[in-house]
Amino acid sequence: MMSIILQNLSRVNLSNQITVIDRNLVPLRLGILSVATLEQMTEILTETSENILIYLNRRGAYKAYICKDCSHTWKCPHCDVAMTLHTSPKSQLLCHHCHTSLPVPETCPHCHGHKLSGIGIAVQSVEQFLRNEFPTVEICRLDRDQKNVVATARIFIGTEYALRHHIGKIGVAIALLPESELNIPEFDIEERVYTNIRALWSISKHCLIETHTPKLPLIQDILHGNYKSFLTRTLAERKQYQYPPYAGLAYIRVKHKNIATLEDICAKINNKLKLEIDKHEGTSNQVLYDRSVRLKRAGEYIDTIMIRSPLLLQILEPIQKEVLRNRSVELMIRGEKIL
Ligand SMILES: [Zn+2]
Ligand SMILES: [Zn+2]
Repeated sequence: MMSIILQNLSRVNLSNQITVIDRNLVPLRLGILSVATLEQMTEILTETSENILIYLNRRGAYKAYICKDCSHTWKCPHCDVAMTLHTSPKSQLLCHHCHTSLPVPETCPHCHGHKLSGIGIAVQSVEQFLRNEFPTVEICRLDRDQKNVVATARIFIGTEYALRHHIGKIGVAIALLPESELNIPEFDIEERVYTNIRALWSISKHCLIETHTPKLPLIQDILHGNYKSFLTRTLAERKQYQYPPYAGLAYIRVKHKNIATLEDICAKINNKLKLEIDKHEGTSNQVLYDRSVRLKRAGEYIDTIMIRSPLLLQILEPIQKEVLRNRSVELMIRGEKIL
């Protein structure tokens, strides 16, 4: 078992242990958990009264449903996103944006093939896997679809939602594929992953990170308890790209069923913002409006205007009325300049 463990550092900052398992180098059981992790879980279950927590921040059973013959991916008919395969409480394809559900197809509409399959594991598939591996152990899933803590459970599997619950003494906690979260296009996603894994580490005697990318600076910083390195790197990146705390950041989201109306509203807002920015020449203000990244959600088109500015509230002033008056316009302030 020791041979598969890359690094095993105890008492780093926190008194609990943390280990990174490189999934590229170790045998995996059905592609879900490493054999070493399963051995450690068995040890906890048989030799202690402690619980186990597995953290995977992805709802559903599989991230997407595809045809293995022609790669056709099922997308929501109202949104531009792949539908998630759910297996509980019933099998269905679900859109996490507009909640549209479809029965799980058995035939591909493109090539009429039958080799259809879910890809990208999520909590429900891990839950099912664990029920097969540990048939006599009580297992509890915690996510937005299943919110009740089963007091007698020994194994808990959940998304970020599970971290908000108190689930007794945790012998081992497993952060499963934390790198899969990093493709979420948010400037502070690394900070969220870092914080969540640290929380997991602080509540468990031993935290295992099962990853395909053990060399990722984020994972190395977590492993070494190196908050200073994480902070320095994160702040340097934010300074370079002018994100909070070095500039204020806001998104204006405009949604409409009609593309021409949508573009009209966006153009007006864009012009007002640019006029305001012209008044503050010499300050590093930026307004970005890119029509090519238009989204479709629940049958409506969405354009986003991003504003980065050290004078954020001043720049936003002239469009405040538009935001209050027009139900198609939404303003999200993600952070202000404080450094
Ligand atoms: Zn097909
Ligand atoms: Zn949808």
